[in-house]
Amino acid sequence: MMCAIACARRLREAKNQSEVVLLDGAKKPGAKILVAGGGRCNVTHYTVDEHQYAGSTPGAIRSVLRRFDADQTVDFFSGLGVELKREGTGKLFPVTDSAATVLDALLRELDRLHVRRVFPWRVARVEQHESGFRIFQSGDPDGFMQAQHLVLATGGMALPRTGSDGVGYKFARTLGHSVTDRVFPSLVPMVLGEGSRWITELSGIAVRARLQVQSATGKHLHSFTNDMLCTHFGLSGPGALDVSRYFFDARTDDPGTQLIINWLGETEPTEVDTTLQSLGKKSVLGGLREVLPERLVRALCAQCAIDPSSPGHALIRSDRQQLVTLLTSTVVDVDRDRGFTHAEVTAGGVPMKELTTKDMRSKKCQNLWLVGEILDVDGRIGGFNFQWAWATGYVAGSAIAKAILAD
Ligand SMILES: Cc1cc2nc3c(=O)[nH]c(=O)nc-3n(C[C@H](O)[C@H](O)[C@H](O)COP(=O)(O)OP(=O)(O)OC[C@H]3O[C@@H](n4cnc5c(N)ncnc54)[C@H](O)[C@@H]3O)c2cc1C
Repeated sequence: MMCAIACARRLREAKNQSEVVLLDGAKKPGAKILVAGGGRCNVTHYTVDEHQYAGSTPGAIRSVLRRFDADQTVDFFSGLGVELKREGTGKLFPVTDSAATVLDALLRELDRLHVRRVFPWRVARVEQHESGFRIFQSGDPDGFMQAQHLVLATGGMALPRTGSDGVGYKFARTLGHSVTDRVFPSLVPMVLGEGSRWITELSGIAVRARLQVQSATGKHLHSFTNDMLCTHFGLSGPGALDVSRYFFDARTDDPGTQLIINWLGETEPTEVDTTLQSLGKKSVLGGLREVLPERLVRALCAQCAIDPSSPGHALIRSDRQQLVTLLTSTVVDVDRDRGFTHAEVTAGGVPMKELTTKDMRSKKCQNLWLVGEILDVDGRIGGFNFQWAWATGYVAGSAIAKAILAD
């Protein structure tokens, strides 16, 4: 949608008659906008840089992001009548707190610019010919459209019921592109194994925790400190979703990769030890429930076979040390990720090195452009994935119009 808008605006300004057509296989376009941010749509983040992304090289990602930054996203939506507000986390949402405001504004703008929206029109395959592209409709072998330029904006594989089921990778390959060896769910909840069943029994508990990925040899790989939610199957919430990308990626190469929780966020073990030692007559439960939910404290004590009502001074050293270790370094038994159906984004895709980053143009196929999640770029929780979609869409759309006008 962003790409079509950027292209159509430029063509209109130049009074060019070329038609911009938006094909979508879904019955309702923009499904992900509506579900995003719990129905509020986290449109972008107040500060966006390449370090919030994984996949292709930071240089390639930066090159695109600086051509359409978060301020431009804010201005773009403001121009469509959608004001954004910044929340404490730095995330930007529409002031209406409704994702429909964002989608409606995009659809209105597409209509104003006379972009032909064709849906549901599922693409089965694409072919390149001397005169351009033929785009064939699914279920109708004779039904095809012709286009001078083609943009693949099919998304990745996350939440496939919205229409993005990975078929775009097939189109990219047909047209000469490669796709990374690994394409896997990112920002995905984690299903825990039998060894961490006690954590799943804490379903509903949310804490600000530090989640760390460590190699089998004990090397620190990645960590995130953010809200984490215990659920009936395992771990969710922003911290767990962010870390999932790095944990599952690392574990594919190194099966001994560990996920470690510090239930007290950034608090160091020595500090926790000192606190426990200074409890005196106060019970362990009484002391710890000031910083953690009571159910969690009881579960942690149970794991260490400590009576939570026992006074701090009665804790023997080995028990205290065991509790400190569990509080700050619980090693989690992660069974698997929850799959694309529950993932927010796809890791892997078409490598950025196969595109010219100044305009998102394919280096492999003439007049082909790729934008959004189909590319090997995935961002953290916080509006970064939409920013990637807006930025790549805007850059490509503007460049296509320029190319058409130059013909
Ligand atoms: C539950 C959930 C919540 C999210 N929340 C946020 C958030 O708050 N903030 C944020 O930044 N990101 C969020 N994301 C991620 C964000 O939605 C995506 O990264 C972004 O939508 C990607 O944009 P895209 O245009 O590349 O792909 P998509 O939004 O996936 O759109 C691809 C479109 O292509 C169509 N399509 C695919 N194949 C075909 C075909 N063969 N023929 C015709 N049409 C086809 C699909 O129907 C779809 O409409 C969330 C994702 C999910 C799943």
